[in-house]
Amino acid sequence: MVADDAANGSDTLSVAVIGAGPAGYYTAEALTKNDANVRVDIIDRLPTPFGLIRAGVAPDHQSIKNVSRRYEATNQRENVRFVGNLSLGRDVTLAELRDIYDAVVLATGAAKDRSLGIDGEDLPGVIGSGPFVGWYNAHPDFKDLNPDLRVASVAVIGNGNVAIDVARILAKTASEMAETDLAPHAAKSIHGSPIRDIYILGRRGPLEASFTPKELGELNQLENCVALVDGNQLPSEDIDDMMTGAQRKNMAALRQMAQADPESKPVRLHVKFFLRPMAVLGDECVCGLRLEETKVEDGKCVGTGKTEVLPTGLVVPCIGYRTSPIPDVPYDERYGCFENEDGLIGPRLYCVGWAKRGPTGTIGTNKPDGAEVAQKILAEVRPAGRPGRSGLDALVKERDLHIVTFQDWKKIEASEEAMAAEGAPRQKLTDIGEMVRIAES
Ligand code: NAP
Repeated sequence: MVADDAANGSDTLSVAVIGAGPAGYYTAEALTKNDANVRVDIIDRLPTPFGLIRAGVAPDHQSIKNVSRRYEATNQRENVRFVGNLSLGRDVTLAELRDIYDAVVLATGAAKDRSLGIDGEDLPGVIGSGPFVGWYNAHPDFKDLNPDLRVASVAVIGNGNVAIDVARILAKTASEMAETDLAPHAAKSIHGSPIRDIYILGRRGPLEASFTPKELGELNQLENCVALVDGNQLPSEDIDDMMTGAQRKNMAALRQMAQADPESKPVRLHVKFFLRPMAVLGDECVCGLRLEETKVEDGKCVGTGKTEVLPTGLVVPCIGYRTSPIPDVPYDERYGCFENEDGLIGPRLYCVGWAKRGPTGTIGTNKPDGAEVAQKILAEVRPAGRPGRSGLDALVKERDLHIVTFQDWKKIEASEEAMAAEGAPRQKLTDIGEMVRIAES
């Protein structure tokens, strides 16, 4: 339980940040940096903090996950606290939070998959990147997903870093994943799977792909899997001068793939451009993907009318995300995030991160984004004697809610570290009830 807190002084600004991911933490950091008269509660529906750092960033990218130390430092501030296992909508309404706090910031990310909008996309064997990444990252919502990986080939749709993550996690061997926190249920399934061909499919060309060079380059360094591309799909070196630095580096990685020997390793990862999905084929489950060849005109993908079928038993669309709507909060259907003006949704209600700008940018993008919205809040909202912390604590007590504090989370973390296999950083717990029991022990 959270220690009981004296009622707020009327000069203290109370802010609730909903969502304990990078956007939420950077906003809390900026809100409390210079002004002791601000108190922030970072509320999350899970008993664990750090959002996408924990459940989105790939398990073999532990160095990226280290940024959570910075969020931990924010949590050490007396005027910041983590309130886990408290769900907006289930345990508390937005209207209640707006009564309790001077300002509410929605940092809820973008948890829903964008849809392909093609026939067959609801067939078993089509699994969006949201659930798929959540599954291998031990997110409690997806621990029972159990995707059928007894397939020879997989089609990963999209030319972004999530597509690369999914393909790489499927391609890496048990020994390559030994020092990661890949969920044991996923390790068993992936490392026992007969997958031999993995396709990354882009509807536009290599110049339009949103891969970052480091991530694309990693595909050339896999132990058991050779990355391949048809050199004819790559632009001529003559136009290298006209490319951005990132495009040039991506081309270098792709040219290496064009030279690779398809027989050199047992698993092949085919990076294919200029193909857009037209239909997922199959009666009871997926057996293939109908694709149309495309060309790029003025940066846009244009179909040529020429189609082909890719036999595959698993399709993983990695085509971006949408923020989950919240009742009574205006929603921008086009961008899949909350309608807002530089983070302002309505009086004393703000949004940050993917919930503000849509699912773009790396973790670092959230830092200036959160700082800007924090400045806006400090400039626009005056403390009005709302109870803040003590108001939330009273509601938690009245409803007998089992919230998890940062100190409680450290017990969960210690337990995960104690369970880790040799060399691995942790073995994540997936059962919320078990996490709460450990927190309360
Ligand atoms: P993304 O970079 O926006 O890529 C989405 C891809 O899906 C694009 O290639 C897009 O093609 C394609 N697409 C969209 N709708 C499609 C459709 N109907 N049919 C076929 N293809 C379609 O998004 P993301 O990969 O989900 O990544 C989200 C953000 O997280 C990005 O900013 C990414 O860099 C970041 N991230 C970073 C890391 C890392 O740094 N290690 C790891 C993971 C994610 P078009 O371009 O033609 O629209």
